[in-house]
Amino acid sequence: MNSAALTGIGMTSQRTRARMVDRLRALGIGDTRVLHAMGVVPRHVFLEQALANRAYDDTALPLGFGQTISQPFVVARMIEILIAGRELGKTLEIGAGCGYQAAILGVLSKQVFAVERIAPLLARARENLKQLKLSHIRLKHADGNLGLAEAAPFDTIILAAAAAAVPQTLLAQLAPGGRLVMPLGGAEQVICLVERGEIGFVETRFDAVRFVPLLPGVE
Ligand code: SAH
Repeated sequence: MNSAALTGIGMTSQRTRARMVDRLRALGIGDTRVLHAMGVVPRHVFLEQALANRAYDDTALPLGFGQTISQPFVVARMIEILIAGRELGKTLEIGAGCGYQAAILGVLSKQVFAVERIAPLLARARENLKQLKLSHIRLKHADGNLGLAEAAPFDTIILAAAAAAVPQTLLAQLAPGGRLVMPLGGAEQVICLVERGEIGFVETRFDAVRFVPLLPGVE
């Protein structure tokens, strides 16, 4: 892709992205690092050409394979909860899709791991992140229910797919003081934060959300 296509023109321009960031701020996103990351990652690069002109609308959009690219507000909100005024540190994303949220995490942290269960989506994530020169993000075709034992423990873990219960395997891969954020529930979901404290895990619940389900195995 040439640099004009990366930077974007018209509905995919830096100006359109800046308006998206203004909207996120108005909706209550306050962490300036998160707002900066949302402002520099060109979301249109992660979408099919036909959808690129809607890249900076604050909505989830189809990715193919029955999956969706997450809504910008929800990405910003979950990462703001996860970063909690500190640092992301070594971070793991479960459900990379085509890599949008992984790119945001990659702007915020030097150590990012992301797993995806659908091989062709992971291939697209790899291509997209390469174009953006975010080569420090390590991608793996794997079942995120198992976490990523080879790189554990993580300071932060974020799930982009919903489960009815917090996966215990993932909690076990959190470093002391580590934090995990995920959409918790089935038909009705809320953002759930779990922190690994000195006396155990502490859970806090936030906004209602709607995510695709965390599925077993790989395809
Ligand atoms: N992070 C993406 C969101 C993609 S949608 C973004 O930035 O837009 C959620 C993704 O989770 C889907 O691609 C789906 O295939 C993936 N997923 C679901 N269950 C999974 C599992 N057990 N392991 C890894 N990925 C999973």
